Amino acid sequence: MTALEFPLGLLRAIVVAFGLIWGSFLNVVIYRLPLDLSVVFPPSHCPGCGAPVRAYDNIPVLSFLVLRGRARCCGMRLSARYPVVEALGGALSFAVFEVLVRNEPVLGRALAIYGADLAFCLGLVAAAFIDAEHMYLPDSITIGGVVLGLGTCSLRGMGFYEALLGTVAGFVGVWLPFIVMYRWVRGVPGMGLGDAKLVALAGAWFGVLGAVVVLFAGAVQGTLAALVLYATRGNLEEPKAVREDREALERAAALGDDDARKALADDPLGTAPEPGLLRARLPFGPFLVLACLEFLFLGAWFRGRYFGLFF
Ligand SMILES: [Zn+2]
Repeated sequence: MTALEFPLGLLRAIVVAFGLIWGSFLNVVIYRLPLDLSVVFPPSHCPGCGAPVRAYDNIPVLSFLVLRGRARCCGMRLSARYPVVEALGGALSFAVFEVLVRNEPVLGRALAIYGADLAFCLGLVAAAFIDAEHMYLPDSITIGGVVLGLGTCSLRGMGFYEALLGTVAGFVGVWLPFIVMYRWVRGVPGMGLGDAKLVALAGAWFGVLGAVVVLFAGAVQGTLAALVLYATRGNLEEPKAVREDREALERAAALGDDDARKALADDPLGTAPEPGLLRARLPFGPFLVLACLEFLFLGAWFRGRYFGLFF
């Protein structure tokens, strides 16, 4: 039995609905993971007044449109991030099915590829939004993703040692030049350990070549975005939550809290950023995530076009 023996329209509808529901769960992950809260308990409640969200008000994308972006309970304006993340879940689920699964003849293998690649995509989306807001990439996503990538490498036609080599190369390729060596020269690291783990995740999924392409494509797109933002706004501000967290620690440290003082000293984000484009603090995670998704969906085409002679 192959996936194509089901009516294609029905399969597509199921795949999109499934992705939308996961997108809805991703909103919970993006909100709660950086706050160290459980992602499964308690069930969703209104960020404004704390009232539980009713099931019919929790339909992905649709509820937001019907309620015109306001909570039914207290009328609080809801972030556009909610429907955007839900729609991304639906779109990525559809893309995984269309690009990576549809032509797989063995049903069990098709399901395994769908599950693994969708989990990869969803984890990446959560990581991108969390990093954009907090400049922090949770280990549960990056290291968890590496473990899943190593365990499922055969689904991508890769051997275990190839995937392991990609993981190590991805990590060391960021850690050595951009953290260790950069710190010798400039006194501060140029990237975070979370970025190194995210490139390691790309290596676990795509091998050494994929990790190199993801790092390069992420850097190019991040630089372009920084230039465009700088040109249009005149400055690049660090994310609001990062500044607020630091200011809260600084107040605690000023009142004699030694733990807060130590946390500030250990944190690369513990001092206010210096002005100027080259010193700007731009989260790199979202651009690495973008590059990972591009490689996932366009990688085969890219390899055929540019590396066909060598691989
Ligand atoms: Zn409310």
